[in-house]
Amino acid sequence: MEYRDLLSGFVRMHILYHASQEEVYGVWLIDELAHHGYRLSAGTLYPMLHKMVKDGYLTVRSERDGRTVRKLYTATEKGRAGLAVARERVRIFAPKDSDA
Ligand SMILES: [Zn+2]
Repeated sequence: MEYRDLLSGFVRMHILYHASQEEVYGVWLIDELAHHGYRLSAGTLYPMLHKMVKDGYLTVRSERDGRTVRKLYTATEKGRAGLAVARERVRIFAPKDSDA
């Protein structure tokens, strides 16, 4: 991902946003983030998700679907609170609210 050092915080915000709306999983997030111009590989996304779980922003549960096990992520209260603060802080860059 280009400008990763600058944009990785936005990517985490985006993950938190969707994980606060519904349960999300890795492949879905890769696709969703690509629509917003963030091209992440699984090798980048999964360590990021793992760290966000470890830091208390997300919870994860495993769901078996046939032979595959899917990990589903949900934002915690800390994640939702952090997202609210981050949204407030980035507002100065946005002339008007745009679609997340
Ligand atoms: Zn989105």
